[in-house]
Amino acid sequence: MANIVAIVGRPNVGKSTLFNRLIEERVAITDNVSGVTRDRHYGQSVWTEKYFTVIDTGGYVVGSEDTFEGAIRDQVALALDEATVILFVVDTITGLTDLDKEFANILRRIDKPVLIVANKAETFERQSLVAPEFYALGLDADVYPISSTDGSGTGELLDEVVKHF
Ligand code: GDP
Ligand code: MG
Repeated sequence: MANIVAIVGRPNVGKSTLFNRLIEERVAITDNVSGVTRDRHYGQSVWTEKYFTVIDTGGYVVGSEDTFEGAIRDQVALALDEATVILFVVDTITGLTDLDKEFANILRRIDKPVLIVANKAETFERQSLVAPEFYALGLDADVYPISSTDGSGTGELLDEVVKHF
């Protein structure tokens, strides 16, 4: 069976940046007419000879008339459904928000491996001091400090991800 890694979390935590790093594809897919960079949502990756598909779940609109739960049901639930492993991305610069907590409530009900990805952790403070806050979410999940922009921590994260395949 295919191994699928779903990247979820609220907007701006760095999901798409992490996705691009994991699939090692830096070439943006651009729309020739508008010149606007398009999101690509599925990519292939490999780590220690284990192949997997990565899903980026950007795109839902927060602040529309839909409730957050409604939006996530439509656009993220499918990825959660398909996932072998779920990467729940949070932001070590802003810390936790109410939306993060809503996400955690949804993930708590899903019986799949979840890894908390503490992104934007370029500094020692962000790597270490924020972890207790994320553990306090009460998910049965370990916290992995990474930087999607400089790549630090992603090796340790992937070592853990592939254990679930
Ligand atoms: P998404 O909405 O969750 O997909 O987030 P994006 O990947 O679009 O990133 C949102 C913003 O966070 C962008 O300005 C990124 O450059 C920035 N960002 C993403 N990853 C990192 C990181 O590891 N460190 C820092 N400092 N900024 C990051
Ligand atoms: Mg995105």
